[in-house]
Amino acid sequence: MLRRSIAFLLAVFLLFSSLVFGFTICIDPGHQEKGDPTHEQIAPGSTETKARVSTGTRGVKTGIPEYVFTLEFSFLLRDRLVQEGFDVIMTRERHDINISNIERAKIANEANADLAIRIHADYSANSEVKGFMLLIPSPDSIHTAPIYSESRRAAEKIMASLLNISGISSLGIRQRSDMTGFNWSKVPVLIFEAGFMSNPEEDVLLASQDYREKLVEALVSGISDYFLSR
Ligand SMILES: [Zn+2]
Repeated sequence: MLRRSIAFLLAVFLLFSSLVFGFTICIDPGHQEKGDPTHEQIAPGSTETKARVSTGTRGVKTGIPEYVFTLEFSFLLRDRLVQEGFDVIMTRERHDINISNIERAKIANEANADLAIRIHADYSANSEVKGFMLLIPSPDSIHTAPIYSESRRAAEKIMASLLNISGISSLGIRQRSDMTGFNWSKVPVLIFEAGFMSNPEEDVLLASQDYREKLVEALVSGISDYFLSR
């Protein structure tokens, strides 16, 4: 009986690991040590431009820079996705680098990633504001309409999974047409804004290994649900 149970569990494990095997996830740890204020086109063919990459925010209580949080968090996420059988590429693995939002999008495009996930933390002038949110490309822009529906489906699976974390605050899924990293993306993409570093409570939470691991587990489970339901 025990041997049959083990064989069954092994079969289930192999089935699940093979189903996500071959899917490529591109993780983009938001920002870098020094921002680059020189401009780049917000979308292909656009006359509108934006800074190549901004510096990001900083924890109001912990003082942790956003670019440090995003990279540490991305390493945790990468390791767990690899364990699940995904192929993972990262747009950066160090702080001292200069890659713009267009270049980050192109890394995912060139790898033909099945999903790009960009990691950020948020800032608000109102220190009361807290909660995570998921940003996805808009269906109303010619640049992002082709990747809208798959990006939304992935975001909904991830949202459902994150909401299982007890006590977590959610600000929902929001559509954006003003993000360079979305407009240049040819693959489904979303931004995980993990929480507000301008809210003292959430800043401390985001610095804790325990909370980071909970978020990562929820992301991994949401991402797996998305691929298993394709
Ligand atoms: Zn950011």
